[in-house]
Amino acid sequence: MRLSDLYPPKPRKPATSATQPARAVAASAAPTPARRLFLLSATAAAAAVAAGLVPRLVRPAVAAEGANATEHFEVAFSDAEWRKRLSAGQYEILRQEGTERPYSSPLNDEHRAGTFACAGCAQPLFSSRTKFDSHTGWPSFWTPLDKAVGTHTDRSFGMVRTEVHCSRCGGHLGHVFDDGPKPTGLRYCMNGLAMTFHPQAA
Ligand SMILES: [Zn+2]
Repeated sequence: MRLSDLYPPKPRKPATSATQPARAVAASAAPTPARRLFLLSATAAAAAVAAGLVPRLVRPAVAAEGANATEHFEVAFSDAEWRKRLSAGQYEILRQEGTERPYSSPLNDEHRAGTFACAGCAQPLFSSRTKFDSHTGWPSFWTPLDKAVGTHTDRSFGMVRTEVHCSRCGGHLGHVFDDGPKPTGLRYCMNGLAMTFHPQAA
């Protein structure tokens, strides 16, 4: 998959005034906040990490390179079966380690009490009690439910990150960083499309 598939550039608006074409184009070409965030992630992350501008990445002692390739999960389907069971967007994230656009998921603004579960196998993953607003545009939590997720090292896009997946079906959920709030200091940065929300029964 190409980066442009994940974050296609916004089409430029035509110049509104014939007398100021250059200015109009320059203004419309300015990156949106989301695009700026992405550009930082994709092109400057390595330099920013080296310069200490962004937090160190979490590297759990248990994380093993390529662990996913040999890992066996309780819920397992063929690729064709996953395609049938999931929406196109869910498939791209859960099975192909895609990333949804920031602020695109309704779960980002879900503030009710309840449980966030895996969209692939329905395993409960996160409690609303551990959700916080990270201002990143992705649903964020400071800890998962017990044994709900696994991790492996992700070296895609020229970065070293800790990938997070469902421990039951292996579906990709997002990444974990160490710039989260107390008590863990962790930020589980999740794709809303990879989860479903189940409000707590009154
Ligand atoms: Zn799952």
